[in-house]
Amino acid sequence: MKPLAKSSYAAFSCQRTSSRPGRVDPRAGAGEHEQVPLEITRLHLASLQGLDGRRWPVHGFVVTHPGGAVLADTGVGGPQEWLDDWRVVNRSVADALADLEMSPADIGLVINTHLHFDHCGQNAVFKHAPCYVQRAELSRAERESRELYDWSGFAGARFELLDGDAEVLPGLEVIATPGHTAGHQCVVARGEGGAFDLLIGDAAYTPRIYSDPGSDQLPAGQASDVVVWRDSMRRIRSLDPERVHFCHHTDVVHR
Ligand SMILES: [Zn+2]
Repeated sequence: MKPLAKSSYAAFSCQRTSSRPGRVDPRAGAGEHEQVPLEITRLHLASLQGLDGRRWPVHGFVVTHPGGAVLADTGVGGPQEWLDDWRVVNRSVADALADLEMSPADIGLVINTHLHFDHCGQNAVFKHAPCYVQRAELSRAERESRELYDWSGFAGARFELLDGDAEVLPGLEVIATPGHTAGHQCVVARGEGGAFDLLIGDAAYTPRIYSDPGSDQLPAGQASDVVVWRDSMRRIRSLDPERVHFCHHTDVVHR
């Protein structure tokens, strides 16, 4: 991927629309804005040992737009003991971006699907960029993960707090999908002809869970609230995305 000219990022910022309350229906098209196809590139940011004893990849995603680039999830970070406990083989997000001939400065906007240490751990690399997260998720992190909250400097971070579904940029939306955590969100990125990709975050760890959310064999940690999580999975599946991309699995599920 070619680096994008810095000047284009200023234009990107100007195109940013304010988040809007209410429910986004990704099937309804990109609203009043001109639709520009978005391109998704997966970054391999780490691997860690899951609670099932297996190695799990950790992915972030760069979503490019003619005016700039967005990063969805920033990879692993936190106190060293956490990295040791999870047997993390970590990678700097800057190195991963360099593979795409990009640098952190090229990221104009960050989205965190949620605030677990393997999704927001390198947020501090992007201090220049606003970071879109659900208000409910920041509250949860402050309440339940005080160590991560403090370690990551969330109190001073440039969060743009969302209350439910929101359009972040033309063709780029987040949909509130609580259940894995109280403020989890997925990312919807539109391509050609109204089709859209879904960055599912941790709403489903694997394609198998995405395909069968009714299973009572959920892995540990998949749902903090199973009833709410199943509602979110019903909604996600009813949207029928063209492709689903996973943070902890390398397969992409096609419709
Ligand atoms: Zn998580």
